[in-house]
Amino acid sequence: MKRKVGIMGGSFDPIHIGHLVAANEVLNIYELDEIIFVPTGHPPHKEGLRADSYHRLMMANMAVLSNEKFSVSDIEVKNPGKSYTLNTMREFHKLYKNTEFYFITGTDAVIDLPNWHEPEKVLKLCRFIAASRPGISIEEVSEKINEIKKMFGGNIDILQIPMLQISSTDIRERFRTGTSAKYLLPECVEQYIIKNGLYREEKCPRNEDRCEYAY
Ligand code: ATP
Ligand code: MG
Repeated sequence: MKRKVGIMGGSFDPIHIGHLVAANEVLNIYELDEIIFVPTGHPPHKEGLRADSYHRLMMANMAVLSNEKFSVSDIEVKNPGKSYTLNTMREFHKLYKNTEFYFITGTDAVIDLPNWHEPEKVLKLCRFIAASRPGISIEEVSEKINEIKKMFGGNIDILQIPMLQISSTDIRERFRTGTSAKYLLPECVEQYIIKNGLYREEKCPRNEDRCEYAY
């Protein structure tokens, strides 16, 4: 029988409970053997303060410590160029033989598939599972997914999960303004952010030095 491996891509800036719950629900329902979180090397340009790849990778590793079926890959972070999911999936297929891949996204992210690099080829390399996320209705997502399937083929499911209105954008804003983000993210990740002064207006120079040699 083929191994079933979930891949969850994202900027994870920072990783939060919404990511972990979505991954765990997909793991349960699709009976996956494991899930690999893959932080992006170059997060798409967004407003506001961002954390270095090194810190995003560290936080993701800390967040998965308590789950033996979760791990983190640095495949995209260590790549100096722009990472395309197509290349990442090709690499995973080389590394893991006899494996069926499930690419996990939120419903907000899956509807952006037509803007990805070569969506048709990506859809041939993995099934997509879109976990429900507040902000977009299931009807709207289903309609968009049907259009995507018509355009590119492939297999895309929507999975209804306990919805959590948590986003990294909101969490970054909380750290910037000094509002508590407790319980929205793992406690160790919260402490890592505080210790390293991430998402604050004034950057801690010590941390920037440390990042230079890493990725
Ligand atoms: P940002 O606000 O910076 O965009 P984010 O919270 O959306 O951050 P990402 O790293 O962009 O987190 O998301 C990675 C993947 O996780 C995406 O596919 C996204 O849809 C999904 N995701 C993020 N938060 C949730 C959530 N609360 N519920 C379900 N899926 C989520
Ligand atoms: Mg996002």
